[in-house]
Amino acid sequence: MKPLIAGNWKMNPNSAKEAKELFDEIKKGIKTAKSEVVVCPPFVYLSQLNGLSLGAQNDFYEEKGAYTGEISASMLKDLDIDYVILGHSERRKYFNETDEQINKKIKKSLGQGLKIIFCIGETAEERDAQKKSEVLEKQIKEGLKGVTREEMKSINIAYEPVWAIGTGNNCSVDETMSSVLFIRKTISDLYNREIADNTRILYGGSVKKDNSGSYIKDAGANGLLVGGASLNADDFVEIVKSAE
Ligand code: PEP
Repeated sequence: MKPLIAGNWKMNPNSAKEAKELFDEIKKGIKTAKSEVVVCPPFVYLSQLNGLSLGAQNDFYEEKGAYTGEISASMLKDLDIDYVILGHSERRKYFNETDEQINKKIKKSLGQGLKIIFCIGETAEERDAQKKSEVLEKQIKEGLKGVTREEMKSINIAYEPVWAIGTGNNCSVDETMSSVLFIRKTISDLYNREIADNTRILYGGSVKKDNSGSYIKDAGANGLLVGGASLNADDFVEIVKSAE
């Protein structure tokens, strides 16, 4: 399985000029990369960037109409966008996204032929209360409700412990490995072993160029979702290379 390395730019950078410069530097740096690389800039830059696989950071579950400020999956498909990140913890936290809404977005996006980076992960409080497995299982089961075996080919799961995102406190290899195994077992119980083995499970949370390789080589992850470090072209290119 080819690793998937995704850069989540979040609400950065501040101008289209900077976005294009960053994108072009990344494009140049990963020319010979063996991994699949996807860059996820803010919506407004999507139509201005090309030459690399692109992902959006969100979409909405209705097709069109009176939903001020929203972007539909079909609009993304029309721009030739390949991926969409759904269920990111920042959306769950700041925009109160529920598992049910995330599930509707996943199904709508799959229906439009988009590939999904479906984020799950426990908070520090849930981890301390020994509730990690329970939380991950609920997020997976509710997020994937009604997703068919065939559609699972377009699902990538990003395990992103909330306490590790943007904190510099990345999850250890051992703990990541046990979460990746748990996620795979949950997928196997929901679908079957083959689907579980073929579903890419990414790690995300303070990935840097000096810790990135170990998640793929030692923790059994099939890719990375990179936030902060994807805003520095050299660092992101190093991270892509470390996955090979
Ligand atoms: C993310 O936004 O998905 C993320 C993992 O951020 P960071 O790498 O900055 O922790």
